[in-house]
Amino acid sequence: MAATVVRNAEWMIGWNAATGRHEYLRDADLAFEGDRIVFVGKGYRGAAEREIDGRGRMVMPGLVNIHSHPASEPFNKGLMEERGSTKLGMSSLYEFMLLVRPPPEAARAGALFAVSELLRSGVTTFTDYSLPRPHWMQDLAGTGIRACLAPSFRSARWSTPDGHSVRYDWDEGMGREAMAAALELVDGANTHNSGRLFGMVAPAQVDTCSAELLQAAVAAAKQRNAPIQLHAAQSVVEFREMTTRHGKTPIEWLADIGFLYDGAIIGHGIFIDEHSQIRWPYEGDIERLASSGTSVAHCPAIFGRRGILLQNFGKYRRRGINIGLGTDTFPHNFIDEMRWAAVLCKVSASNVEATSLAEIFHAATVGGAKALKRDDIGRLAVGCKADLSLVDLRHPTMQPLRDPLKSLVFSGLERPITDVFVDGKAVVAEGRVLTIDLPAVMEAMNRGQRQALENAPSLDYAKRPVEEIFPMTLETGR
Ligand SMILES: [Zn+2]
Repeated sequence: MAATVVRNAEWMIGWNAATGRHEYLRDADLAFEGDRIVFVGKGYRGAAEREIDGRGRMVMPGLVNIHSHPASEPFNKGLMEERGSTKLGMSSLYEFMLLVRPPPEAARAGALFAVSELLRSGVTTFTDYSLPRPHWMQDLAGTGIRACLAPSFRSARWSTPDGHSVRYDWDEGMGREAMAAALELVDGANTHNSGRLFGMVAPAQVDTCSAELLQAAVAAAKQRNAPIQLHAAQSVVEFREMTTRHGKTPIEWLADIGFLYDGAIIGHGIFIDEHSQIRWPYEGDIERLASSGTSVAHCPAIFGRRGILLQNFGKYRRRGINIGLGTDTFPHNFIDEMRWAAVLCKVSASNVEATSLAEIFHAATVGGAKALKRDDIGRLAVGCKADLSLVDLRHPTMQPLRDPLKSLVFSGLERPITDVFVDGKAVVAEGRVLTIDLPAVMEAMNRGQRQALENAPSLDYAKRPVEEIFPMTLETGR
């Protein structure tokens, strides 16, 4: 098998194993053969069956997204951007999210749409944290992306009867059965013939899973050497609920039941004891996360839109917590999420030096890879997966060109990304996603959102009309 070589790349983001950091390389070559990188550096002299001219281009490692809900979130566009419950800590989880339920066929289309956005923004590995859906593995495998299937399960459902309180309905049997089905999917992903799927054990939320269910989930994850993820410390309501139930913060309770360890990911880890909206009298949550080796999935956009901040990314990092990034919402534009992460950290700390783009980029690549228990992705190094993208340095958004990563994240976003490879195969070329029929997917997604909105009032506690639940930005004139 002969190699593909990107020759004389003007800029490249290489991995320095000695320092454990990414670094810029100039006028470098990168070669890959099959699904693996075989050369990174100057002057590749091996055989090549295909040459890509690297002049005017930057070669960048594929980005790693450790938290997303692609089958549901695309349908919230135009609805949820400015919607949260002011009497439930600004969260949209209890009053609004439950009202938008696209039919299964539409959910498939929404997921493909989300994957197209992820690929387009340079993501080569993503985590699909969702309720199991038909054709899940087949659909994801067909897109060419590397996907971590995270089929979610829980032992309680929440609802609000009035917009200011939350009720939990428990059914332990439901949780156990759903976990058994989820583990079958995890095992199926780990042995899928595409070689690009793998599995995560994914209990849904700290306040909807019993201690027994979470402990069984940890045992199943350890047995498989699979990562495990749980939503926790994600809302004020959840923090109050857990302290009411147990007299412990959500993170403290998880530490005590044995959930925190180096294979665990907490999405989103915002409402810890020292958060300014909490002000719990005892501090220890950051230390609990850091000393256990637990990772945090940081998804700033969806929270930032509701006035909620993780306080703060830089502090978590300095205290030793591994962080990966995720797109918990639409758009599934990972570069945009990186920009939110950088800016909101500085805003929450009132300090321009609270974090750096280098630190954000580390989280977006190797931080995420570590959380997913992978050391073969998120970096350009010999032996790693050939997951990478090419950035057009001549794109107007990259000009003037001095520091290409800064130009990309603060100015260009996904626009200058022209080509994306996963396992050495092209999935985006000339800025177009090759593996997804976008017009068909968009039509099905629009139809699905209309259907979901027809049902929304019947699911609302007050049976409000759609226009009242999700007001339009402007009134319609005559
Ligand atoms: Zn989430």
